[in-house]
Amino acid sequence: MMDLIHELWFLQRNLVSDDYDRALYRLAQEVGDRMYIHEYPTGEPCWTWQVPEKWTCDEAYLESLDGRRLIDVADHPLHVVSYSLPFEGVVNREELLEHLHVHPRYPEAIPFVFKYYQRDWGLCASQTLRDSLTDEAYRVVIRTRFEPGTLKVGEVVVTGESEASFVLAAHLCHPAMVNDDLTGVVVGLQVAKELLGGPRPYYTYRLLILPETIGSVAYLSHNESLIPTMVGGLFLEMLGNDSPHGLQHSFLKDSQVDRCLGTAFMGLDARGFQAPYRGIIHNDERQFNAPGVRVPMLSLSRSHRRESPDWPYPEYHSSLDTPDIVSAERLEESFQVVMGLIRAWERNSYVVNNFKGEVFCSGYGIWVDYRVNPEGHRRLFEIMERCDGTRTVADIATELGIPFQAVWEVVDTLASKGLVWYRRTPVGEDK
Ligand SMILES: [Zn+2]
Repeated sequence: MMDLIHELWFLQRNLVSDDYDRALYRLAQEVGDRMYIHEYPTGEPCWTWQVPEKWTCDEAYLESLDGRRLIDVADHPLHVVSYSLPFEGVVNREELLEHLHVHPRYPEAIPFVFKYYQRDWGLCASQTLRDSLTDEAYRVVIRTRFEPGTLKVGEVVVTGESEASFVLAAHLCHPAMVNDDLTGVVVGLQVAKELLGGPRPYYTYRLLILPETIGSVAYLSHNESLIPTMVGGLFLEMLGNDSPHGLQHSFLKDSQVDRCLGTAFMGLDARGFQAPYRGIIHNDERQFNAPGVRVPMLSLSRSHRRESPDWPYPEYHSSLDTPDIVSAERLEESFQVVMGLIRAWERNSYVVNNFKGEVFCSGYGIWVDYRVNPEGHRRLFEIMERCDGTRTVADIATELGIPFQAVWEVVDTLASKGLVWYRRTPVGEDK
């Protein structure tokens, strides 16, 4: 995962751009021919949106009138505003500063600024550089092109027994940054590889790699017939830094996916925290949760809590977001958390009783001595009395406020004794 990050991070990856395409094609190589690349041409209507033009920056720099180069996009892709209009001319200091963006907190950072739809020209620099600009006038050169192109969405499908699908999504459109957004992409790809190489899952999994927001809208609006088959999803981002994992729930809050991933997460990162929809960070999960779609998509990221001054992490949306702030260990941990969530989701069935009355535990060798393990004793009975075909493993875990894995251990033991069995749909109320 770190090798891919080193290879792709510094590209000028924008919504529709040559470097975005380069990165996507390189990622596709990782899964052989298993990535399908959807293409949506510039101007294509996507519900209330339309696909923007391809944007290319050939040159962008700021010079003093005696020809000293002060800012140059050749040094760092973030020196130009993403989707900046072209501009060339001599401007006075005041006008320049209106178009020169700096980071609000870190004097050495170049900020990530994008103006996809409010068209304007702009450059970005460190506060330190901005403070050094004392001349009356400067020369600005921004040579950018807006042309017809195609927005590209990469999709890796892992076909399961069921056509009901679970969507993993990550965006790839943040130029020269790593934690947001390349880490979500490489972890998602690693998960797809793992699923492709493993036994056939029950659910079908779809990994989508796309430009943020417009990529999701383009894909969903052109695959409306798939929406009813999407039972849930997980958006991935910011998975390489040192913060604990944060699991943000879906708009639907109490869906089966929210219950399952929420209780499984309790057993996967002891430092982790959970927050409601829009409670951590906003990304493509918004399009999936939105009206007319309503796919319960959660999001996993390593973020400071919303109320922290460092939210979501100090280097966010700036030139400080480099490979130095992420590590292979953290990516691996996040990969394991995602796999743990998927494992739980695969196991999350309705638990049907093969018994009537309370089970004669000693007779089945499953009795837990309450004098030795009072907690285990209580849990066993609390779980068994909920195995009635109307509750999933996640429902039981949610009712008891305990990790999914703790419930699974007990029901799996019951299943091995023939006391319960699983089904994917609830037993009818009529019994
Ligand atoms: Zn971002």
